Amino acid sequence: MTAPTLVPYDEVVERFDPVLGLEVHVELNTQTKMFCGCPTTFGAEPNTQVCPVCLGLPGALPVVNRKAVESAIRIGLALNCTITPWGRFARKNYFYPDMPKNFQTSQYDEPIAVDGYLDVPLDDGSVVRVEIERAHMEEDTGKSLHVGGSTGRIHGAEYSLLDYNRAGVPLIEIVTKMIPGTRERAPEVARAYVTALRDLLRALGVSDVRMDQGSMRCDVNLSLSPRDSGVLGTRSETKNVNSLRSVERAVRYEMTRQAGVLLAGERVVQETRHFDESTGSTSPGRTKETAEDYRYFPEPDLVPIAPPAEWVEELRATLPELPWEHRRRIQAEWGISDAEMRDLVNAGVLELIEATVAAGAPAGEARSWWVSYLTQQANTRGVEPTGLPITPAQLARVIALVASGELNNKLARQVVDGVLAGEGEPDEVVAARGLAVVSDDSALIAAVDEALAAQPDVAEKIRGGKVAAAGAIVGAVMKATKGQADAKRVRELVIERCS
Ligand SMILES: [Zn+2]
Repeated sequence: MTAPTLVPYDEVVERFDPVLGLEVHVELNTQTKMFCGCPTTFGAEPNTQVCPVCLGLPGALPVVNRKAVESAIRIGLALNCTITPWGRFARKNYFYPDMPKNFQTSQYDEPIAVDGYLDVPLDDGSVVRVEIERAHMEEDTGKSLHVGGSTGRIHGAEYSLLDYNRAGVPLIEIVTKMIPGTRERAPEVARAYVTALRDLLRALGVSDVRMDQGSMRCDVNLSLSPRDSGVLGTRSETKNVNSLRSVERAVRYEMTRQAGVLLAGERVVQETRHFDESTGSTSPGRTKETAEDYRYFPEPDLVPIAPPAEWVEELRATLPELPWEHRRRIQAEWGISDAEMRDLVNAGVLELIEATVAAGAPAGEARSWWVSYLTQQANTRGVEPTGLPITPAQLARVIALVASGELNNKLARQVVDGVLAGEGEPDEVVAARGLAVVSDDSALIAAVDEALAAQPDVAEKIRGGKVAAAGAIVGAVMKATKGQADAKRVRELVIERCS
């Protein structure tokens, strides 16, 4: 296979209009599966969370999980959709070894929620409205593990293992309408949409939205039409993109690849593609099935979903403050700029700061720790800030120790380092490492006198009225006390001893 010709990005946007479409699959965090009572815990021993229903054994009958329907309705409402008053499940027929029934119970032409929108904030503060075509309920498949190949793909594998624990876990698929007009910002809009959707679903509490664990995954549809022609191009569908950054990269890559195909006078093939994290490129998968190939028909084993209007209204009343409304309120409370707020959100520390404030820390201190030192620590370790082994409550305790004068900023960092290193609670680290501030005057006076004696010329200047020279002595004392002296008190003592 020859490598595709990639067109420089600037040229792509000069000559073509990208048209985006995004399909996001979200695993709901219900205790049990969509149509049976099997647990849904992630990471259990393979094939320990299965029963005749989710294994598709003959004669087994499914029953819909009420909690999953409730979550689906709340998602639909939060996306400003109309909730369909009556709709059926459908069988989507295809053969795949990780799907034990040989069909997936899904919804086809009667989805639970239709015609909504999500307002998506972009980095520059502008907002793009992404229209939602539908959100429908379905069940997840099992997982295949291909053993012996080099890439984990089935190609070249010696054998494959199947784990049906995930088969039947409730999924919601949220499908946008075509998103035209994003031009050079298409990759950014795609990423911002998935980010906004993730934040919304997290606020709803319906999923843990972990892209790294596959509980949220995105299919990226993209086509190019010649600039301002209004003619729709053929789209590719890049499947199961599993990080926000990859969503952005996949859109960008497909734009440059498809432009290369079109400028060579060839046609874009309608197909599914795989995204490769390591190279940032996509490669062809199977040729895309059409709806006819799936032979959809209404599921005869399940009653229709007909949520009473009163129930829908009850659920509407449970919707939380939306993430962007929440942010607007927090931003006003903390008195910070749009740009500062964006930095917090992008750094993934907003919730952490809020939790630190809730644990008693002043907002300014909490912000400064999470945005600078702890973000650096997270970067060094290659984890998200939420993955750092320090809790907001522990950080709030460190901040309180600084406020009471028991720690200075330098010592506080050492205490945080100790907590991150697993040395225990902040107070335990202070005790074990002997980090409390030395504020005992007699010890400080001895150190000041020693420093003055060591630098007689500086001492002379201070005595002569050059108070600014005191800094050198303070520095020497701080060094001698390994940063554990109270710098303000040292300065006072230096002036006192020289007057
Ligand atoms: Zn089951």
